[in-house]
Amino acid sequence: MATSKINLAANEVLFREGEAGQFAYLIERGRVAILRDNAGEYQLLSELGPGECLGEMALISHDPRMASAMALEDTTLTVITRDHLKERMARSDPLIRHLLQLTLKRYRQSLGQTFLDTSSTQDLDYLEDEQQAMQRMRTEHDLRHALENEEFILHYQPIVRLADRVTTGFEALLRWRRDDGQLVSPDLFISVAEESQIIERIGHWIINEASRARAQLHASYQERLSDDFYVSINLAARQFPDPDLPAVVQAAISRHQLQARQLQMEVTESQILENRDQAIRVLQHLQSMGCRIALDDFGTGYSSLAYLNRLPVDALKIDKMFLDDMLNDAASRTIIAGMARLARDLKLGFIAEGAETEQQVDALGTLGVEHVQGFFFGRPFALETKKEPA
Ligand code: C2E
Ligand code: CA
Ligand code: CA
Repeated sequence: MATSKINLAANEVLFREGEAGQFAYLIERGRVAILRDNAGEYQLLSELGPGECLGEMALISHDPRMASAMALEDTTLTVITRDHLKERMARSDPLIRHLLQLTLKRYRQSLGQTFLDTSSTQDLDYLEDEQQAMQRMRTEHDLRHALENEEFILHYQPIVRLADRVTTGFEALLRWRRDDGQLVSPDLFISVAEESQIIERIGHWIINEASRARAQLHASYQERLSDDFYVSINLAARQFPDPDLPAVVQAAISRHQLQARQLQMEVTESQILENRDQAIRVLQHLQSMGCRIALDDFGTGYSSLAYLNRLPVDALKIDKMFLDDMLNDAASRTIIAGMARLARDLKLGFIAEGAETEQQVDALGTLGVEHVQGFFFGRPFALETKKEPA
């Protein structure tokens, strides 16, 4: 959102105590007095000069102005709108937002501004922040115990080669079985785990558990299975900075007597873009160890084909959204065929995700898609639990 500038002459009032605050201001030039009405007499709270900010509290807490502001000389101000701040606030951690609101509220209370209390607690954004922040703290707390309580499980979904309908891999998908028996989807807790860095420990567990499960999948999966089928593990962006990641993968490979290419790591473009250099270094390391790397949800992010050939990837996976309207939309089919061809030309594997019907699977085959994953071939399923030897 664009910012604008305003000019005030000496003695001109910028805002008055008790008014609703829509803007904050940055002083570019001049001086501004902050004044409070003290039983009919104006009391000077402070004098602000170039580079200083005013009016920001009302913007953050939606409360009325707690003081008045008046120019002491010719003054130029940059105006910061609520929308401008809102964008940034929306991107910040709800817990930090909540604490910021609380701090402001306490500060106002300490100044005896009790008339402000109700307006801030009635504010919908504020309430939402409070609920979100509390929910996150609870989830974070529960996640810390989930590993020790063995509440995580992996479900496995087959990836099938269309030419002969042989299963060439399984994607490992995380589930959280809470102590009340409720099965929580990863979409609801992975981001919390990432923000609190518990993700590193959960990530280590996933790598080890998926590696262990390969032998069990081999023994118990009744469908046709290729000999060197792989287990595909989703990595979270916050696992790239984890210095132990390659060693944990190596240890799991040795411990469970796998070949490295029997493990695939799935990452999305947006995860790579969060810290491209670091992500590429880690992926190169994993690839040099022999692991496969798949680019997940290909085509849904900022897909830059310019760097595709510089990324250490072995396969592209396209999201279910491309398949959703492929049967009645020729443009979708053209896009899928184009991406499959791109993968072939770059000598990359290609997996279409989210096929639910036979018609979709048939159509994918005619578009040159080689591998398909989706409910049509199998929903993610749990293996019988088998405890690791201590
Ligand atoms: P994703 O990696 O894109 O996983 C594919 C999702 O599509 C899975 O949802 C899977 O169950 C679902 N799916 C597959 N085929 C079909 C289909 O035919 N129809 C429909 N409607 N859905 C299908 P899920 O298991 O809920 O996982 C959601 C997301 O959570 C994953 O998206 C991934 O981003 C994340 N996730 C899952 N497991 C892990 C994990 O172990 N680690 C990390 N970091 N993230 C994970
Ligand atoms: Ca995935
Ligand atoms: Ca995907």
